[in-house]
Amino acid sequence: MKAEHYVGGTFRTDGAPFPLIAPADGSELGAVPEATREVVDDAVTAARTALKGPWGALGAQERAAALRTVADGIQARFDEFVEAEVADTGRSREFASTVDVPRAVGNFRAYADLLYGRPERAYMTQVPGWSSGAGEALNYTVRRPLGVVAVVSPWNLPLLLSTWKIAPALACGNTVVLKPSEETPSTATLLARVVHDAGLPDGVFNVVHGHGAGAAGEFLTGHPGVDAIAFTGESATGAAIMRNAADHVTPLSFELGGKNPALVFADADLAAAVDGTVRSTFTHSGQICLCTERVYVERPVFEEFTERLAERAKALGGYGPMISAEHRDKVLSYYRLARDEGAEVVAGGGAPEFGDDRDKGFYVQPTVLTGLPETARTVREEIFGPVCHVAPFDTEDEALALANDSPYGLASTLWTRDLSRAHRVAPRVETGIVWVNCWNLRDLRTPFGGVKASGIGREGGEYSLDFFSEPVNVCIQI
Ligand code: NAD
Repeated sequence: MKAEHYVGGTFRTDGAPFPLIAPADGSELGAVPEATREVVDDAVTAARTALKGPWGALGAQERAAALRTVADGIQARFDEFVEAEVADTGRSREFASTVDVPRAVGNFRAYADLLYGRPERAYMTQVPGWSSGAGEALNYTVRRPLGVVAVVSPWNLPLLLSTWKIAPALACGNTVVLKPSEETPSTATLLARVVHDAGLPDGVFNVVHGHGAGAAGEFLTGHPGVDAIAFTGESATGAAIMRNAADHVTPLSFELGGKNPALVFADADLAAAVDGTVRSTFTHSGQICLCTERVYVERPVFEEFTERLAERAKALGGYGPMISAEHRDKVLSYYRLARDEGAEVVAGGGAPEFGDDRDKGFYVQPTVLTGLPETARTVREEIFGPVCHVAPFDTEDEALALANDSPYGLASTLWTRDLSRAHRVAPRVETGIVWVNCWNLRDLRTPFGGVKASGIGREGGEYSLDFFSEPVNVCIQI
């Protein structure tokens, strides 16, 4: 796969190349061009020109039709997208072909559909004599695009998460410059091919490759020609982008990190809770922002739950690698830190040996820890690997206090058969999403996002359309 920038309808590879490494076996997949400031400038200028040109003149139905053509184009190249995502991330073909690529198609279709259900002008009020002497007025609201949107995306769900922003941004009539993660540039390049072949006007969608700090990501998010930033990634990166965007007061939508809790009550279906926690902790080797890293279990079932979870973790086979050598080293450094902080390692705790090519890849063992105090860094900081810490609790209030004592607030999971308890506890957990007896069950129309250091704003359905368009009030004196 050849990574290329896509700027104003043209593919180009200017900028010093850096190697793209396969996490599955450490082999070199190809080279990625590092976008210079000039490439980023060109992309923003092209996006601005397209906004003023044919794209800005299209009606909602025509934009919806364009989104559908892109969805069809991804579907037509389904296998290429799957192979590109598998090579860049080391994930399984099954995951890429049942989650990543279908969701990318779904993202474009869903926002095309939503455009039909949304009036572009909503009549609000007709006010007789609201203030003395003002007479009667008609107020109505028009929604208009924000302009040039910078999308900066992470490596963990490259195509799924970038299209989750690109589709609603385009639906609302914006133009887009995407800066995908430097670790996973391939599906972004393929998406540019699809958009190109779909015949969208030049400059409506642009891709610039490269790193974040001091590079393409920073050039783009600090660019005066960018009207809004939609970012998914680490909370610390969000803070850096916010500082960089402050001079231009650029509106931001942030989906950031997490340290997600699961609460297992003694009345839970324990088999379902163990199954669910295996999924929520170890899916994609823990490299999903929604993955569980803290499990609190009511004391009567604590030992049985921990034993069963540890057994399942030890028996896991066929799991994927960490995205890079650097990330593998980071996760392993937390495994060492956990021991130094006094953890009992009940499963995993190191790097596996396979005796084949995978030993050149970046794997870590699925790991279950117990025995740490809540103040331990291992319990407080996001690790983003296949690991959780399990701790006991005695009362519902204590469980809530433990779950909420975190700088993060993305997602949580409750396991209980008591309906009243579920309704009582769910609204009190300080996370943007609370799952009850399930995990990662997603309806794309529901609000998605985090509280505290886990994000700003909500995406999903109407919530995305609200961010990517601006309500403008028109007041006419009658
Ligand atoms: P990251 O923050 O390291 O990088 C994300 C993107 O930001 C990359 O494209 C990177 O090049 C760019 N970037 C880095 N520094 C930058 C800077 N100073 N200015 C501009 N751009 C910059 O995140 P990652 O390691 O790719 O992804 C993992 C993180 O993402 C985890 O913290 C995870 O929880 C989070 N995440 C959150 C969600 C969510 O929906 N809340 C979803 C997925 C991942």
